[in-house]
Amino acid sequence: MFESLSERLGGVFDRLTKQGALSEADVDTALREVRVALLEADVSLPVARDFVKAVKGKATGQSVTRSVTPGQQVVKIVHDELVRMLAGDGPADALKIDNPPAAVLMVGLQGSGKTTTTAKLAKRLKEKNGKRVLLASLDTNRPAAMEQLAILAGQIGVDSLPIVKGESAVQIAKRAKTQAAMGGYDVLFLDTAGRLHIDEVLMDEVQSVRDIAQPRETLLVVDGLTGQDAVNVATEFEAKVGITGVVLTRMDGDGRGGAALSMRAVTGKPIRFVGLGEKMDALETFEPERVAGRILG
Ligand code: GDP
Repeated sequence: MFESLSERLGGVFDRLTKQGALSEADVDTALREVRVALLEADVSLPVARDFVKAVKGKATGQSVTRSVTPGQQVVKIVHDELVRMLAGDGPADALKIDNPPAAVLMVGLQGSGKTTTTAKLAKRLKEKNGKRVLLASLDTNRPAAMEQLAILAGQIGVDSLPIVKGESAVQIAKRAKTQAAMGGYDVLFLDTAGRLHIDEVLMDEVQSVRDIAQPRETLLVVDGLTGQDAVNVATEFEAKVGITGVVLTRMDGDGRGGAALSMRAVTGKPIRFVGLGEKMDALETFEPERVAGRILG
């Protein structure tokens, strides 16, 4: 198991008996441990470096209060800074779905949990917000994926666009928009095709669909266990398609979730939700506090 940051820092500061203010040397020693903890939690190197620099400025010279040890004090500063960076501009769970029908474009690699997340979000909007939701799969390469979305729609009691063989993704997107408008739906989810890796064909298709669909939200679904890969995927999608937020899946696994911090730092886009299992209810609003605790161990 990972050694928690508190344990690491406790050890470091036991060796330093100085009291009073945190000296630069104390802070440097502590921050080396912080950096290792971040890297172990899958935070990417440049992001870990920047983070440590930001914390150093805040910690150096702070007086150590009597009630806590220097180690606890540094852990608190690190924790607060992590939460601040993860949280960004505040509550992120409200999707922009006014002016019905609002299109939500779901993008990401194959196997990231895109179809599952689409259905989870649809269920949430239906049950929590009383929205009428239409789901459409644009994965023309994988008929099984289209059927899977239709099956999930049936399970959660929302409509899905009838499957018509031989249509392109753009044609499906157009039909879905018409259907959503005519049928009086509030929200239209477009579940785009994934690929195993980012490639140009995929990006071209997603761009064409985006131009037709004019989505209010473009949510990137990424596997939270994939670390640096997740960051690369987020960077590419942000550059080529433009995203409004990220859904991090498989946070029920034993990953430390450092990808959340890296993605936030690199793309500037908020993490909106986390997937916590295969069941349709296993989706929660992103809680910076919880993820910060997990990253620090
Ligand atoms: P897609 O190819 O991106 O559409 O991926 P799917 O939605 O088909 O998901 C791939 C697999 O991951 C399925 O077996 C899902 O049940 C599973 N999955 C999706 N989200 C989560 C999650 O948050 N936690 C876990 N443990 N499994 C998930």
